[in-house]
Parts: sequence; C-alpha cells; structure tokens
Amino acid sequence: MDLRITEIFYSLQGEARSVGRPTVFVRLTGCPQRCSWCDTPYSFQGGEKQSLDSILATVASYGARHVCITGGEPLAQPNVHPLMRQLCDLGYEVSIETGGSLDIGEVDPRVTVVMDLKAPDSGEVHNNRLENLALLKPTDQIKCVLASRRDYDWARLQLDQHRLVERVADVLFSPVWDQLPPAQLAEWILADRLPVRFQLQLHKVLWDDARGR
Ligand code: SF4
Repeated sequence: MDLRITEIFYSLQGEARSVGRPTVFVRLTGCPQRCSWCDTPYSFQGGEKQSLDSILATVASYGARHVCITGGEPLAQPNVHPLMRQLCDLGYEVSIETGGSLDIGEVDPRVTVVMDLKAPDSGEVHNNRLENLALLKPTDQIKCVLASRRDYDWARLQLDQHRLVERVADVLFSPVWDQLPPAQLAEWILADRLPVRFQLQLHKVLWDDARGR
C-alpha cells in the first residue's frame, strides 16, 4: 500500500489550535485545486511513492507525538485513510489539513480535521464542499485564508449563514501572506466583535516560508 509523498519533515506546527507544537509533517503530493495564493505549488506534482511502513518508520524516527497530514490535498489519495488509522492506533495525535473540496466523511474520528473554506479571491470558492460542514466534529477547525476586504466580508457572511462557530472548536481567520496586512485583518475582527481566532502562520514569521520548515 503506497502513497505519493512530497516531503516528510519535523518542525513547529505553524497554524491552527496546535500552533507551536513540535510536529512531524507528512506532505502528500497532488491537489485538484489551484488557489491563487497557494504557498505549496511544489506539491502539485512529482513526489515519491512510499509504502505505509516506510512512512511510519520515518515518522517514528523524529520521536514526536503530533503528526500533521497535509499537502497538496491529502484526501486526494485514498490510502491516506489507512495511514491515519495506523498513526492513531500507534498513539500519535493526528491532524489533517484539507482544502475542503473533497469528502471528509471517511476520516478516522480520532483525527482532528482542519478544513479550509476557500474565499472568493482564492479562485476556488465554487469548489467548497459545503456538505462537509455537517460532518465536522466539535474538536475540528475551519480555516478561512483571506486576501482582501471582499474575502473578509464573504467569510463573515459564512459565519452567520452556516453557524460555523457552533460547529467546531475554532474558526480561524488568517491573512494571505504579503496580500492583506495582518494588522488590518485584526482591526476588522475586533471592530466587528467576531468570535473567531486570528492567526498568523508561525513558520512564515520564523523562517520566511522556507521549504521543509
Ligand atoms: S488546496 Fe491547498 S495545496 Fe491545493 S492549491 Fe489550494 S492552498 Fe494549494
């Protein structure tokens, strides 16, 4: 049983609730989406086929408790499910970062889902799979990456229309690096008293988005 892998590396979790925790990242190759601001286009193609056993051995070599399955779009490879099941069985705390266009129904319930809702400036808003919202657990998270005031207004509307805050542990609003000044987004959130969590991507602050960090 194989998966196509772009990279496996050890770093600090850069976002979401577990931000700052030492984590092993397993980046799967391939994505059906093309977000205008995507910061991992190198994961669209290439990669290397690896067996589940080999992936598990690499993960174990770092001695970390947290494992983040990311991409690309990790749900595009069906074998991601046995990988996540085995990681959970081995006692890891596992999260998956998904772009939100594919079905999350098969994800092991022990896994924390961090699901994007793509805003208009991403160019992928039409691919949001809204059926996924009903499948999210109270421990999951929804992430909105915002590039403009238009994106922010759209995200605010989604909060109301889909009662996002009631569904998950956190709704994360994050500015697109180099497009929306972080302080501007922070001001909007405070002015509107939004019950969301503002976040900056820690790995970009620390390492300027260097690959494998
Ligand atoms: S879903 Fe993620 S990996 Fe795919 S294009 Fe968008 S940002 Fe990039």
